[in-house]
Formats: sequence, C-alpha cells, structure tokens
Amino acid sequence: MNIDVSTSAPASADLAEATPEIAQVGVIGAGQMGNGIAHVAALAGFSVIMLDVKAEALEKALATIGHNMDRQVHRNLIAAEDKANALARLSTATDYAAFDDADLVIEAATEKEETKRAIFKTLVPHLKPACLIATNTSSISITRLAAVTDRPQKFIGMHFMNPVPVMKLVEIIRGIATDEPTFQAIQALAHRLGKTTAVAEDFPAFIVNRILVPMINEAVYAIYEGVGSVAAIDTAMRLGANHPMGPLELADLVGLDTCLSVMQVLYEGLSDSKYRPCPLLVKYVEAGWLGRKTGRGFYDYTQTPPRPTR
Ligand code: NAD
Repeated sequence: MNIDVSTSAPASADLAEATPEIAQVGVIGAGQMGNGIAHVAALAGFSVIMLDVKAEALEKALATIGHNMDRQVHRNLIAAEDKANALARLSTATDYAAFDDADLVIEAATEKEETKRAIFKTLVPHLKPACLIATNTSSISITRLAAVTDRPQKFIGMHFMNPVPVMKLVEIIRGIATDEPTFQAIQALAHRLGKTTAVAEDFPAFIVNRILVPMINEAVYAIYEGVGSVAAIDTAMRLGANHPMGPLELADLVGLDTCLSVMQVLYEGLSDSKYRPCPLLVKYVEAGWLGRKTGRGFYDYTQTPPRPTR
C-alpha cells in the first residue's frame, strides 16, 4: 500500500516498567491491519509471530512490511539497521502451536464474528496461562468475544487505525470482565508503539467507527440516490468539510466488506433503522469489489490515477 509514513514516531521505552513482561507478540491475520500491527511491534523491539490461514497472505505481508520500512528508511524516520533488526524479530506461522510462548496475541482477522469465535477457540489451548488476548475488531462486542475464551479477564479490544504505522490512535475497549492489569498492560504497550490511546466503552463499533462508518454509509446513499458522483462527493467532503480524504476513498482504503460488517453490527446491535446498510454497499461487496485490496471499489485502482467507477 502506498502509505505516507512521514508522521510515524519511533516507539519510546519510557513506559516499559509498567508493562507486565510482554516480549513476544502473536498477530492473527496478516491482512492490511495485521501486517501494520506486526510492523510497529517488531520496530518497537518485540519478537513478533504473524499467523494467517493463507500462506500467500503471509508472504504478501512480509513484502509489504519490507516495502513500508524501506520508505521509512528513505525518509530518515528509521535507520537501515532498525529495519534489519525488526525484520529479524519477525516470523510467520500457519500453526497455532507457534504461540505457545506468546505474552500477548492480537487478533486482526476478517471482521466476521463466526471467524473470530472459531479463531479464539482454536487459539486458547495453545497459550500459556498468563498470555493476554487483544482483538482489533472494528465493531464486535469485546464481552461476547471474550466469553469464547478461557480468560475473559485477560481479554481486551485494541483497535488500531489504518495504516497502522502512520495513524496515531489506538482505541482501547474493556469487556465487562477485563481486569485492571490487562488494561494497564495494553495501554502501556500502545504507548510503547508510539500511539495515543482513547478509551471507549463496549458499545457496537466503539467511538471512531460509530461516527465514521455511518458517514461512509451516507456517502454511499448519496451516490445510490443520485445526489452526486463519486468524484463530486469526495471533492465536496475534502474541500467542503476539510477532510484529508473523501468518504468513498476512505471506504476503499478501509475495505468495503469491513464497512458493511460494521454497519450490520450497528444496525443489529442498536436496533435502529438509521444504521441500515446502503443496498449499493451490499451490492459492491457481493460483487467482490472490496476497495483497494481487490483493485476495485468506488475507484478502479488498475488505472493511474484511480478512476471513479460511478
Ligand atoms: P484484510 O481482509 O486485509 O485481512 C484479513 C486477514 O485475515 C486475511 O489475510 C485473511 O486471510 C485472514 N484470515 C481470515 N480468516 C482467518 C482465520 N480463520 N485465521 C487466520 N487468519 C484469517 O482485513 P483487515 O482490513 O486487515 O481487517 C482485519 C481486522 O482489523 C478486522 O477485524 C477489521 O475490522 C479490523 N480493522 C480494520 C481496519 C481497516 O481500516 N481495514 C481498521 C481497524 C480495524
């Protein structure tokens, strides 16, 4: 992905004492979020193991991380040696046995509750008792996901933003059973990764996506109802509301499948028709037009510059 890493900050170690011994971090899902989380964790000095169901996703993630670190070296944000050391701390696996010594596992697989439940059930027997579990879910109840595991007190939401090496925020969400040491450890870890934290309660989609994704859905309704073209809507919001990206460009960056899943969680979780997913968003996802990651969404990324599709 073409990311601007100019605002990345190297991790600071000042809060290390507050962190209960997190040395090895497992990451489940090597997609756009998983590779970003692995990137920042390896650069911050953690030993990182990335796992995915697809071996090719792991290969692609390693290539992306290498490329994104090259950009950071090129911009003098990190030294070439930092990149080499970070890559040496990073390994991949397709078998959960690789997590037997992990101190924390961060789940960043596809935004589907059945998928995440199945992952946690498979994961838990491989973990040592002290291992913490975090999920990067954009919307799903932390309490409900925690209940699938044998350690809801050591389970927490750690919601990174995309692209992870650039974006400063991590939302932290406690489930009903999350204990204070887990919260403190995860907050300290986020700070070590160079991030600022915001604490959200365990409501559907938390803070950022409760506000952001309905705006994206509304932008899709605006195309659907013929209020404006893709280019007009994005230009209007970039220049009219001073947003750095238009909502449809942003939807393509996030992934239209993820946007739809978040709307479904809001619609079902809050039982309010104002969160009804736009039928055009549903259709794009059914077509496999998921945005940048599949080469087509509201823009066609096989063209340079990307061409609006409507
Ligand atoms: P993605 O589609 O890029 O990657 C998902 C990865 O999960 C894929 O590599 C897939 O092979 C893997 N996967 C699927 N099932 C799996 C399984 N059973 N075991 C292991 N790996 C599995 O998706 P993404 O955008 O990286 O999103 C991942 C998570 O991060 C989701 O929960 C999403 O809501 C959340 N998130 C996304 C964004 C964003 O902007 N895209 C931002 C914050 C949080």
